[in-house]
Amino acid sequence: MKTAESRRVRDLVYGTFVAEGRAPSIAELARLTNTDASRVRNTLAELAEAHALVLSHDADTVRMAHPFSAAPMAFVLTPRDGHDDRRWWGGCAWDSFGISAALGLDVQIDTACPQCGARISFASGPGTPPPAELAVRFPRPAVQWWDDVVATCTMIRMFCNTDHAERWTLDHAPETGYIADAVTVWRLAGPWYGDRVHPDFQPHTREHNQQLLEDVGLTGPFWRLP
Ligand SMILES: [Zn+2]
Ligand SMILES: [Zn+2]
Repeated sequence: MKTAESRRVRDLVYGTFVAEGRAPSIAELARLTNTDASRVRNTLAELAEAHALVLSHDADTVRMAHPFSAAPMAFVLTPRDGHDDRRWWGGCAWDSFGISAALGLDVQIDTACPQCGARISFASGPGTPPPAELAVRFPRPAVQWWDDVVATCTMIRMFCNTDHAERWTLDHAPETGYIADAVTVWRLAGPWYGDRVHPDFQPHTREHNQQLLEDVGLTGPFWRLP
C-alpha cells in the first residue's frame, strides 16, 4: 500500500467490517480521515486497483474487503458466544472460514446446498474444522478469479457432500470447476486470511499465496495464481 493515507482508509474499512459487519460510507471515511469525499474516492480506487478491496459497480461504495462482504451473499456468520451480537455475510465458503480465521472467533455458519436446497448449519472456528462430509465447489480457475471477483465468490458454494456438488456441476456447468472438501478450504483459509485484520498486515506476495495453496494440496493449472 502506497501511502499512510491509503493504509488508514483500508484499516478503517476493515475495522468497520469487524465491529459492525458493514462497510463504512464514503462520507464516513472522509470525516474519519479529515478529508473530502473526492479524495476518499481516489484512495478507494487505488485500493481497488491493488485488490485490497472491491468497489460496487458504480464505485460509490465498498462492496467487499475480503473475506468480508457488505451485501448479503449465501453465507451468514453468527458468533458462538451468545453475548456477541455481531453478524457477517460470508462472501463464499472460503471467505466464511476466512472471517472466523481473521477474527480468531468460533462461529456458526449458515448456508444452503445449491443442489438440494437443504439448510447447512455448523460450528467452525480456528481450532474447529467443519464437518468432513461438506464439499466446496470453485467455479473457475485461479487465473480468472479477479476478472469478476464478486461473481467468483458468489459461485464458491458449499454442498451437503461431493455427490451433490458433482450433480450440480453436471446439471449447470458440466466439466467446469473444482470440488474440494470443506476441511481443505478451512485449512487454506487459516493462513490465507488469519493476518488480514492484524495492525501490521502486509499483503501477501503471489508466491506466498501459491505456497499456501500447495500446502493444502491445491496444485496444478486450476490453482495457478496470475
Ligand atoms: Zn445437498
Ligand atoms: Zn470469496
